[in-house]
Amino acid sequence: MIIRKTDVLIIGGGSIGLNCAYYLLKSGRKVTLVESKTIAMGSSSGNAGHIVPSHIIPLAAPGIVGTALQWMLDPKNSPFSMRISLDPAYISWLVQFMLACSRSNVQRAIPPLKSLGQLSANNFAQMIAGERFDCHYQEKGLLFLYRTADGFKDGQHEAELMQKHGIPADVLDKAALHDREPAALDAVLGGVHYTGDAHLNPGLFLKLLGERVHALGAEIFENTPVTGFDAAHGNIRVVRTSAGDFEADEIVLAAGAWTPVVAHDLRLAIPVQSARGYSLSMSALKVMPRHALLLAEHRVAVSPLGDLLRFTGRLELSDLATTVNASRIAGIERAVREYIHVDDKLDIHDTWAGLRPTTPDGLPIIGRSTRYRNLILATGHAMLGLSLGPGTGQVVSDLVNGKEAAFDLSPLRAERF
Ligand SMILES: Cc1cc2nc3c(=O)[nH]c(=O)nc-3n(C[C@H](O)[C@H](O)[C@H](O)COP(=O)(O)OP(=O)(O)OC[C@H]3O[C@@H](n4cnc5c(N)ncnc54)[C@H](O)[C@@H]3O)c2cc1C
Repeated sequence: MIIRKTDVLIIGGGSIGLNCAYYLLKSGRKVTLVESKTIAMGSSSGNAGHIVPSHIIPLAAPGIVGTALQWMLDPKNSPFSMRISLDPAYISWLVQFMLACSRSNVQRAIPPLKSLGQLSANNFAQMIAGERFDCHYQEKGLLFLYRTADGFKDGQHEAELMQKHGIPADVLDKAALHDREPAALDAVLGGVHYTGDAHLNPGLFLKLLGERVHALGAEIFENTPVTGFDAAHGNIRVVRTSAGDFEADEIVLAAGAWTPVVAHDLRLAIPVQSARGYSLSMSALKVMPRHALLLAEHRVAVSPLGDLLRFTGRLELSDLATTVNASRIAGIERAVREYIHVDDKLDIHDTWAGLRPTTPDGLPIIGRSTRYRNLILATGHAMLGLSLGPGTGQVVSDLVNGKEAAFDLSPLRAERF
């Protein structure tokens, strides 16, 4: 049996794994990355590409359960659905999620989400400029569009809350909104523009990041799933993979929605539930939106990516399948047609499904394991795994190097569950 020795072994080559690799290599560590399929694909390549330091409210917030139940009464147009299963881990996740939908959870979540979001946004700007990544990065903010008076009212309340936390947000009445975004249909009543946000082509960004990580000296093993571990006395001695065994001083587990499966052999119960979503990407429309958009009532994102346009949506508490469902794609397209000018016939290049690794309280899990001293967890980023990638990479590098992190990581520890 081959045994390879390495300094830091990263499991998973998606947004989080690649960002961890980048910051660790920059700090002078030797990195090996194992990926069960292909790096830079994972659950980020087809996502909306929104970089959103404005997203400081977690998914688990008051009112979301009622809203989700209402949505489910209209399954054809609902942005949400959930699988039915008696799996104890799934039921426990649902119960924990419902309990976390409280004001106190939101208050607890805001400081770490804000710190990590801002760190990431700064790191994106620095990395993209410093590495000259050409990935359609644009600092034009994220524009929420509202079609209903109730939706717009909620949007304004949220904007006020954000402003109190120092997040820049312009509330736009109908005239101001149509002036700022001519692609909006007359039915759109108003908008909120989070001007500190940005967006990019996530597939292109991750491809460039993967190439850079390789150039910086990372050893990358693709098509190499981790299959198990040998651990004793609070230490992981060996990581078993389809390509042989690895010994590492430090191990970073960044396997996204698959984290619970990988961690099972370590007898770690990580409460990460997969939340599937879909996207469709097409050639530019006759009237291209000027901004990255969030179509609020339908929770659908629109992303202009150079000469491509992408629509993304749906959140399905799901299994780990990434099969594209044509009726979901059609539902997303239908929703977009209610908000912006869309050509009658679309030149669709690609349809895609991805899995958001979702925790019950809406915060990621980042920190050193208390059970295994050479294991660091970096997962559970849910709908923010692209946006929070470079910040996560930096704090994981700091943890490995024994440096104090840029902000208090204690709310993100796995032991909170
Ligand atoms: C429709 C949709 C739209 C989204 N839009 C946005 C957005 O605009 N902005 C944003 O910030 N986020 C967005 N997200 C969320 C974001 O895509 C995820 O949070 C992010 O992909 C999670 O990154 P990750 O690295 O943790 O997981 P992944 O990207 O899934 O990477 C995990 C990797 O681990 C590998 N792996 C699994 N098992 C093993 C094993 N046994 N051994 C080795 N490797 C293994 C997998 O193959 C995979 O490559 C969106 C998600 C969806 C679905």
